[in-house]
Amino acid sequence: MYDIIIIGAGPAGLTAALYALRANKTVLLIEKATFGGQITFSPKIENYPGFEAVDGNALADSFFEQVTAQGAEFELEEATAIIDNGATKTVVTDCGEHEAKAVIIATGAKHRMLGAGNEENFAGNGISFCAVCDGAFYKEKTVAVVGGGNTAVQDAIYLSKLAKKVYLVHRRNEFRAEKRVTDGLSACPNIELVLDSVPVECLGDASLSALKVKNKFTEEERILPVDGVFVAIGQEPNNAAFRELVDLDPSGFIVADESCRTKNPAVFVAGDCRTKAVRQLVTAGADGGVAAIAACGYIDSENVKVG
Ligand code: NAP
Repeated sequence: MYDIIIIGAGPAGLTAALYALRANKTVLLIEKATFGGQITFSPKIENYPGFEAVDGNALADSFFEQVTAQGAEFELEEATAIIDNGATKTVVTDCGEHEAKAVIIATGAKHRMLGAGNEENFAGNGISFCAVCDGAFYKEKTVAVVGGGNTAVQDAIYLSKLAKKVYLVHRRNEFRAEKRVTDGLSACPNIELVLDSVPVECLGDASLSALKVKNKFTEEERILPVDGVFVAIGQEPNNAAFRELVDLDPSGFIVADESCRTKNPAVFVAGDCRTKAVRQLVTAGADGGVAAIAACGYIDSENVKVG
């Protein structure tokens, strides 16, 4: 029996572990793929306080070593369900079962991929999912942003201040983004809208040099000469396994406020897998700390008496 099981060992889960261990709780971290989560795919992180630039893998390693040194236990397993036994919770995985007084879900989210040819060849080398993180690499260059939601339009406006030219590629001729956001486009003469169009193929040799797009109605193809493509077509959480115990919003993110509490008093949520406006490394870490403090408070309260 552990005090806290944390599902997901990205920045949110690892920070939650750090806070829980320092509060003298026993912690099991369950991770299905990569300790460190999404940051392990970022070769250069320039928006993490204290570092001018840091390799994502190196940062993930130091998070991991820090919580290992504090006594965290780890299992490389996939959580498939949480069972509420009253005073305890059982986390079911593809390899067995683990029991705890409280659970923190920190399973993150995956960026939706374009589905365009050659996309995987340029991931992290011309294709980016974060304008704030990677925009500075494209000063005075040409980029495309794909998507029509708030993220895509905000990214295009943000990048237009850095890049020489920005193509905003969207599959419809009207934006999903709110009007207050799209209103900002009119002040950016270097943004060209490429509407009713979908990316077909990423082109280039060693690095990306163009994006081929196709108009959905005319089927006309066009080659956009770009140095980078920013993909902003939404994120996909993977929370279906927990829907019995927590509420999910229409996009599948776990409903919780800034306290990271869910509707189940012993289940907390941290990082990109919860409903929130800003999904960044620092906000994931912040959530981890908040969720762990809330979970420790729950365990220490009069309510948790495990026989
Ligand atoms: P989103 O609102 O889900 O928008 C995704 C966009 O990508 C949509 O325009 C969608 O097109 C397009 N899309 C989806 N799949 C695609 C595909 N396979 N190929 C091409 N295009 C595709 O995602 P988001 O912009 O990341 O926003 C996520 C949430 O965060 C939203 O609730 C948003 O309001 C919120 N947010 C808020 C702020 C803010 O300032 N308040 C800022 C950023 C995000 P369709 O429109 O045709 O479906």
